[in-house]
Amino acid sequence: MTTQHIPPPTDRPRPKPWIAAIDAYVPGKSTGDDGKALIKLSANENPLGTSAAARVARADAGDQARYPDPDSVALRTALGRLHGIAPARIVMGTGSDELLHLAGQAFAGPGDQVVYVRYGFSVYPIAARRCGAEPVVAPDADYGTDVDALLAAVTPATRVVFVANPNNPTGSYADRNALARLHAGLRRDILLVIDQAYAEYVPASDDDGALDLAATASNVLVTRTFSKIYGLAGERVGWATGDAALVDMLNRIRGPFNLSLSGQATALAALGDQHFVAQSRDHNSRERARFVAAITALGNHGLRALPSQANFVLIEFSGTLTAEAAYRGLIAQGFITRWLPGQGLPHCLRVTIGTAEQMDTIAATLSRLARA
Ligand SMILES: *Cc1c(COP(=O)(O)O)cnc(C)c1O
Repeated sequence: MTTQHIPPPTDRPRPKPWIAAIDAYVPGKSTGDDGKALIKLSANENPLGTSAAARVARADAGDQARYPDPDSVALRTALGRLHGIAPARIVMGTGSDELLHLAGQAFAGPGDQVVYVRYGFSVYPIAARRCGAEPVVAPDADYGTDVDALLAAVTPATRVVFVANPNNPTGSYADRNALARLHAGLRRDILLVIDQAYAEYVPASDDDGALDLAATASNVLVTRTFSKIYGLAGERVGWATGDAALVDMLNRIRGPFNLSLSGQATALAALGDQHFVAQSRDHNSRERARFVAAITALGNHGLRALPSQANFVLIEFSGTLTAEAAYRGLIAQGFITRWLPGQGLPHCLRVTIGTAEQMDTIAATLSRLARA
């Protein structure tokens, strides 16, 4: 007879230690501490809403009593056509968040390491811990992605590297050469996940080449989302593309019906309205430039707008006006933005680009507070 290891009895289920070590994701708030509804510029949602075609498609999505298409065929076909990708190399996710977790789970586990840059997207440490791997943080370069630091953080235990490009919450961006250098410096058994949640905001002339890498390399997965420029955050639709073997692994472990009926229908309609996408991109670059100029004018009061390629701006506060005071002052003015002490950025505020009028009020409020 063999003796089995029998754990001491406890009065409740014991979570795996790596799960118990997770700090839950903190979503952008929509109210102040008193519960009063505020104008929400804390979650990088589209201030123009979504395409009218997507709203119509939601109403006409079909019979809710039936399961949706488990393989989202119509949506993957349309995505493939738009981006020049074989639909077989596209996998859909319940938001790109699901795909980031699945990528971690499929390729890393206990004893392995997952690398990302400091001030990266706050889902990465959760994705690393959730599969039992060790999160490894590489230093940033003035808040941005530092390719050399990422490569230096790689060890024989590294299995996955996460890079958001543009990055959230910094708005920083690594160009095509930087990404190519990162990929070239990684062992081929390391999965490079390039999270392009904000890619549609980047002008075509600045394309980072991630989709080209995903099309040609065997170890690159690119994730995209309908939550940002398409204005469908509430529908939870994301996708990923890469080598067929990578897509196959994610398909094995994703939820079998992970895209709802209305998610598939609205995303398909939104994809068909590229005019709305272009309009959103133009609005964003115009308002972001105006807002950055307004903050730059407050430079002698210690405010600095970090360069952004996304639909938000991270402001650094180093003068008398603190980020916390600015955050509270904006709440008093009716706006909720994102103050980031939990992400090691207590001296920074992330402001989503809203309407022209909203950005004017925010700039005027910050100016008043900084000069007080
Ligand atoms: C918003 C965001 C996502 C998207 O999440 P969804 O699950 O698709 O809504 C992914 N990555 C980054 C960096 C983001 O900021």
